[in-house]
Order: sequence, then structure tokens, then C-alpha cells
Amino acid sequence: MKKLGFGTLRLPLTNPNDNASIDQELFSHLVDEFMGAGYSYFETGYSYHLMGAEDALRRALVDRYPRESFILADKMPTYNLNIVEDLENIFTEQLRRCNVSFFDSYLIHNLGESRYPKVLEFGVFDFIHRKKEEGFIRKIGFSFHGTPDLLEEILTNHPEVDVVQLQINYLDWEHISIQSRRCYEIARIYGKPIIVMEPVKGGGLAVIPKEAEDLMREVRPDDSPASWALRFAAGLDGVIMVLSGMNTIDQMRDNIRTFDNLTPLSEREHAILQEAARIISRSIAAPCTACRYCIDVCTQNIPIAVLISIFNDMKRYGDRSFPRVHYQHAVFGHGKASDCVACGECEQICPQHLPIRKILQELAEKFG
Ligand code: SF4
Ligand code: SF4
Repeated sequence: MKKLGFGTLRLPLTNPNDNASIDQELFSHLVDEFMGAGYSYFETGYSYHLMGAEDALRRALVDRYPRESFILADKMPTYNLNIVEDLENIFTEQLRRCNVSFFDSYLIHNLGESRYPKVLEFGVFDFIHRKKEEGFIRKIGFSFHGTPDLLEEILTNHPEVDVVQLQINYLDWEHISIQSRRCYEIARIYGKPIIVMEPVKGGGLAVIPKEAEDLMREVRPDDSPASWALRFAAGLDGVIMVLSGMNTIDQMRDNIRTFDNLTPLSEREHAILQEAARIISRSIAAPCTACRYCIDVCTQNIPIAVLISIFNDMKRYGDRSFPRVHYQHAVFGHGKASDCVACGECEQICPQHLPIRKILQELAEKFG
């Protein structure tokens, strides 16, 4: 199977200010282009596009192509679970919305520190395992936005999992809060096939500083920055699928061109991406070096460095970088930005002289 998957988190819209206004005609056109090029993996989620993505995917794909011609992955939205019965109700609704009798792949959506206890309480792993045994699911797994330690704990406790979906891209590879490399290594140790999400960081790695793009163009003049990001993810051992949320024909054609002629990164190209990551990082709002000196002096136990990395992503990528999700995971078991008492101890010690209190205040205003 070709390694490019069509993610439906960022479908084309008729009104850019209304996330429910999916451009069904263009979406169907994109599906045709994708299928016509020999690609077949589609991924959706219960809440995507204000609950509209599954319906839209049914209209664009399921109603127009034979079931055996495509692979369909969906996810259980843990944040919508209020009572245990919701598991059955939501799953049934998803099958109905998509008009299928089974999912090829079904994942617990967005596992991390803050959601894992609820997943255990509601028996979500048992539920998806049972659905697999009953024939409603072919492969089970989870998408993950937590720490490497939690990933290891989950994979130890749930050997029944078939696949894991991880946020991997060359900028997040050594990122202080996302820790792509360490999560990837743990998934490899446990021998789990990996599905990559956010390979282009929500489109953020498609448009990068000119200095970084020039390095890439010097070696491969015709290749877009996005294609470099996709090749980074696709070239990793154990990666079976790379998801991309394509919403224009040009984007799709560029991605298809990359995956039709998929060539692993050379050593020199890896070095270029490392340099590009450095350049992109330099262009960020608060150049925290993650030395963590500030954390040692904070009486409120605020994970300052991690929150600053989220602040930077928010400034650079907006909501495409899922700042709220990362924020919730980061403050789980720690002080929140709003717990800052403005003592100023952290700023006294910060070698980068960052305005930490101001940054935390902005985060507190955004996330409460
Ligand atoms: S100013 Fe806020 S973040 Fe900094 S040390 Fe004091 S309480 Fe912690
Ligand atoms: S002391 Fe400054 S540079 Fe070091 S982790 Fe804290 S905010 Fe970042």
C-alpha cells in the first residue's frame, strides 16, 4: 500500500470562518484525484469539522466507491464520553455516519496524560478490542499526544494494540514537549507499526523562512518544503502511513508526486533538515533553550519551558498546532499558567531574559 493517507481534519471550506462549511464538491474532486493516483487510505474523526467530516467522507468516498477499494480509519473521541454507554452509542453512530459495516482501523483518539485515566475508567481498550473480535474493526490502536513515559506504560499494559499514531515531523523531532523522537523510539521498541500525523505540522512546514527554504532548493530545486517534511516522516523505519490533511488540488498533486517517487533522505539532506529546524526555531517568538533553570525556582510548579514551547507554536502556527491539547497535557499534575503569582524569580534566573510572566499571562488568558 502507498504510504500517503488522506486526513480529514482540514477539509476545504466554502466559508473560511465556518469550520462546518465543508466544500463537498471540491472534497469529492480531491478524493477522485487521490483514488485515481492509486492511493486508498482515509482517516477521519467523530468531531472533525464540528461533527461533519464523517458524513462528508461518506458522500465523497463511501457512496461513490466500492468498500473494498479503500481503507477507512476512524477514532473514538474520549472527550465526548460522559457515561459508559456512550462508547456503544458513538461507535454505532460512526458506522452509520460513514455507512460502513466495519472500520479497517479504529483508534482511541488523542491519548495523553489528561485522558488516560478516563480511558481506563470507561474500559475503552476493552471496548475496541471486543469490537475487533466481533468483526467491526480490523486493526485497533490509539493516537497519542502525551509523554514518552506514558506511551511506554500504555504499550506495556496493552499489547493487543495493532498500531500507534504519533505526531512526527522534523521540527518536533527533538521538541521539548512533543518529543517525537523518543515516542517514535518507544513505538519501535514495542514493534508497533506507526502512522504519522502532523508530518507538515498543520501546514506550518510548507511555508518556512526563506533561509531554510534556500538550503532545500539548492539541493532539490523542484521540491517544495512540504515534500521534504513528508520524506522525513515517510523514510523512518516502521512508518506504514503518513497522513496529510490536503484541501487543494495543488497540495494533493505535490504530495502525490512526493510519494510516487519516494526517495529516502540522504545524509546530507538529513543535515539540511537539522539546519532548517534550527533556522525555523530561531524565527520563533520566545527563544527558550529549555535549560529549565526557571522550573527549579518556581514555587507554583509551572512547567515553564514546556508552556513557552506551546506559546511559540501558537504564535507561529496558530490553532493548527493544537496548542490547547498540548497545553492541557503539559499542565496535568503541574501548576497552570494562571497559577503564576508573578514573583519574578524565574525571570531573574532565565539566561535568555525572557518575559516569562507576560507569556504566562497570555497563555492564562487563552486557556483559562
Ligand atoms: S513568576 Fe510565576 S512562573 Fe515565574 S517563578 Fe514566579 S510563580 Fe513561577
Ligand atoms: S530559564 Fe529561560 S531559557 Fe531556560 S527553560 Fe526557563 S524560560 Fe527557557
